[in-house]
Amino acid sequence: MLDEYKRNGELFLRSIKESNENKNKNIEDLIKENFRKPVLELVGHTAIGENASETDILKATGPGRYFEVSSTSYEILSASFFRTRKGVCSLCGKTTDVFSNRPYIFPFERKIDSISPEDMRLQFCKECGFTLYCGMASLYAEKSIKFFFDSYNPKNLWTINDLFKSSELRDPNYYNKIKNFKSFTYHPYETLFVIIFEFVNKLKEKNLINEIKNIDDVKLLVVVGSGQIYETHIIEGSKLNNFVKFFSKMIDDSKEIYNRKNKGNLPIDSEHLIFNGFFDRLTVGQNNEEKSRLRNLFVKNLLDGKMDFIILNEIIIERVKNKEKWPFPFYYRNFLNLYMSIFKMETEQQMFERINGLGYAIGNKIKGTNLENSFVWGIFRARGVEEFYNVLVELQAKLEMNMDIMPINEYEKEWRKAKAILLNGILNAVYSK
Ligand SMILES: [Zn+2]
Repeated sequence: MLDEYKRNGELFLRSIKESNENKNKNIEDLIKENFRKPVLELVGHTAIGENASETDILKATGPGRYFEVSSTSYEILSASFFRTRKGVCSLCGKTTDVFSNRPYIFPFERKIDSISPEDMRLQFCKECGFTLYCGMASLYAEKSIKFFFDSYNPKNLWTINDLFKSSELRDPNYYNKIKNFKSFTYHPYETLFVIIFEFVNKLKEKNLINEIKNIDDVKLLVVVGSGQIYETHIIEGSKLNNFVKFFSKMIDDSKEIYNRKNKGNLPIDSEHLIFNGFFDRLTVGQNNEEKSRLRNLFVKNLLDGKMDFIILNEIIIERVKNKEKWPFPFYYRNFLNLYMSIFKMETEQQMFERINGLGYAIGNKIKGTNLENSFVWGIFRARGVEEFYNVLVELQAKLEMNMDIMPINEYEKEWRKAKAILLNGILNAVYSK
């Protein structure tokens, strides 16, 4: 992850080097005169005055807030760049004056690095060290995640950082932290999912969406966790690009539906209609941590380009058990179909449409009858493909319905998935207005 981080730093450093007063200066003078810049960029100028001391700036980014700094003083920060010894730079490989990696250079490796023996630590030359330090200007954070963009294409990397910074997603009162959104989230991936949605939403609002729509060489790097345990996750450019298209179309569709409906009855703005209608109805249970645990798993798969029907079914079943007012997520079919068409999942989409249609027809037949409960649970509890078929045959007889279970037969190998889709289809019919 150092390389990716370095590219962001190079971009920022270039903007420093290109300014008139810095032309032809050596790296030492650049560091001396500009090392406040990345931090000021990070914290935002609203929170920190131009004349604030280095100590005040560092305090603002301080421990537990956003950027992990081990020290609050200017002396230690500057010493790291200038208290050097001869050695090999871990990044560029030059034998030159180097210094040990210190936490503020690369926040992600802080803990890991600080427990390794001194001679095993990363060490950097001044140029590389300062470049990494500049990388943090493009680092964003929300709760337990930190993220940044990366691309081999500096122009696109610059564009996306610029758009992100001007998207107003950052809270000016809390440094580079992301603002709170309408949707409650607790876990990292669901939080990230909301951030990407809101980013797209902001770009549409500001008519900037076309600047990003066809960028597919920018990826998103996410670091999840705290303390010594970190997990990294990369959303490749083509996927990120798909999410931009997915959310963009979802917002257009939402506005269209909104305009057709009785607006007075909708307690939400038009842009969020489908997203929140679906997303807010994937929570289960009471306490914060438990409430969105399954949703986080479902969304993590979406971020990987996968549609997990089985977890989705688990969520809906739990909501039914808990007697939620609206157990079934709104705009279920819109959301799923849109996702599968943008991510080009033709086979799965076909499977979904056929089995969901069958489930919906069954659901309409049993809705309000005494068969409703027994069959929903009968199907849910089926532990093998044979048992699953048996329940369906029994249901067919009771309903005197000519049920075409061909689609189920066709997907016998994936019967668990077929069962989840079918059940959701049934529950959709049973629980919709
Ligand atoms: Zn170097």
